[in-house]
Amino acid sequence: MSAPALPAPVAERWDWQLAGACRGMDVEAFFLAAGERRRSKERRIEAAKQTCRECPVIVQCREWALRTREPYGVWGGLSEEDRAEILGVDDLRYPAPRRTPATSEAGTSG
Ligand code: SF4
Repeated sequence: MSAPALPAPVAERWDWQLAGACRGMDVEAFFLAAGERRRSKERRIEAAKQTCRECPVIVQCREWALRTREPYGVWGGLSEEDRAEILGVDDLRYPAPRRTPATSEAGTSG
């Protein structure tokens, strides 16, 4: 009788984060700050995306954020809205299939 297999080390799933270009940066550079206004948010997101573009683990980070449906912040060069668009939902905080607009033929009777 053999012993049951042990689960794989969890650290392997997270090791890529140790090489992130954002490591040590202020968390507010990547996540919404309380009371943040639209223009400020747009500038913050663009600056975060620029950091991501220079990051050696952008692919792993992006895959993680999409796979886990990370609802907050910039991950892998993608904003919350970018990820929602890719995943086809209106809001990652309340995932739901994107509503398709009604066609002009729907509901007509000839
Ligand atoms: S891709 Fe962006 S959010 Fe992800 S680890 Fe790199 S710098 Fe950080």
